[in-house]
Amino acid sequence: VVGRPWLVGLTDINSIKAGVLGLQGCVEPHLQILNELGCQAIKVIKKEHLGLINRLIIPGGESSTMLKLLHESSLFDPLAQFVKNNPVWGVCAGGILLSKEVCNPKQTSFGGIDLLAHRNFYGSQAQSFKEELSFKGDTFIADFIRAPKLQTLSDKVESLIYLRGEGVLFRQGKILASAFHTELSNFYGLHRYFLEF
Ligand code: GLN
Repeated sequence: VVGRPWLVGLTDINSIKAGVLGLQGCVEPHLQILNELGCQAIKVIKKEHLGLINRLIIPGGESSTMLKLLHESSLFDPLAQFVKNNPVWGVCAGGILLSKEVCNPKQTSFGGIDLLAHRNFYGSQAQSFKEELSFKGDTFIADFIRAPKLQTLSDKVESLIYLRGEGVLFRQGKILASAFHTELSNFYGLHRYFLEF
């Protein structure tokens, strides 16, 4: 806890029942961080699990594979409903799944946030890179791993972090979408921010 100021002051932590979509991708690090923040968290792999939680992280991974698995496990429709009523944070591939529109190539999504996601925007030369970003006074290293470009489609979307003039973290109501990962670092600031929604 020492040196992790974001652990201080999460008073209503017991009322939070978080889930991490666990079909594919970078799942465990989110569960670990949520646990370290004192939050009960479960891996969501079937629709019954959605009844046990009141917020969800859709992790990074491969959005097309996740879509296939969502359909195979009959989770797509229940999750689309969940997205309408609960806080959901989509990380990278998760952000793609939450975007209203997806291109390169076009694919279906939940559409919880007015963004256009250009998949694999940074191409093969720079498939992955790290960048120092800051959020609410904290500086951290963000991982962009075959990241999308997320572009706002309406003024209902708030851009919370910019990189070289382009938004990389967005919020619309209780939906949060990031183009980058923080769960592989020791920066828990975004998890904490999300738990306070
Ligand atoms: N390139 C992946 C996709 O289009 C996203 C990568 C990630 O989640 N780090 O789904």
